[in-house]
Amino acid sequence: SLFPKLFPAMIDAVDAVIKQNSESVTELDQAIGDGDHVTNLQRGIKALKAKEGEISALDWADALQSIGMVSMSAIGGASGSLYGTLFIAMSKAAKGQELSVSTFAEAFAQGVEAVKRRGKADAGEKTMLDVYIPVADYLKQAEVNSTPWTEILEQVCDTANQGMEATRDMLATKGRASFLGERTRGHIDAGAKTAELMICAIATVLA
Ligand code: ADP
Ligand code: MG
Ligand code: MG
Repeated sequence: SLFPKLFPAMIDAVDAVIKQNSESVTELDQAIGDGDHVTNLQRGIKALKAKEGEISALDWADALQSIGMVSMSAIGGASGSLYGTLFIAMSKAAKGQELSVSTFAEAFAQGVEAVKRRGKADAGEKTMLDVYIPVADYLKQAEVNSTPWTEILEQVCDTANQGMEATRDMLATKGRASFLGERTRGHIDAGAKTAELMICAIATVLA
């Protein structure tokens, strides 16, 4: 299957896109956070690259479990426990299932639900969830409508892009940014920006 065989290419694409955007994302996290979001993610990416051979030899459920454990311990910060939660919950839903658009959409939805519970957050709070929730919703309806694969990949990136842009005018009510209240309006959320960058980079690898 595409995943996890393509995991090394995916993590390379993620690494490249985070590097290319590191200054602008750091500025976003400096504006309404503590400025460490890129450093946090890059610690996780480095740890995942070190295990890419091992991970790509697993089945998709075990690969997600391993990615979750590594993310949880290497990323750190709020985003580390949230990404750990995302992948580990996806792994639980994937267990014993054949990988398909349908099982992936279901696993992704379960992962996003777990992130919502873990962070006690929902859509509209100016976080990475403003990207992940609409992408999960899109995948479910794409599955129902049997949307062709290439169109799914395009739409997933467009959906992520719109979700990221929408965080600009939101008031942050979760995470560090929430301490700044109204001053958060006008700034895109750093975690939403990196979520969008990573989703679009992975979609390109899968296209
Ligand atoms: P920290 O805030 O601990 O420095 P990071 O900078 O790595 O961690 O990540 C910050 C990002 O995490 C935010 O931009 C936001 O997208 C996301 N985030 C923070 N708190 C939550 C939460 N409760 N639910 C969902 N996402 C959150
Ligand atoms: Mg931070
Ligand atoms: Mg921090």
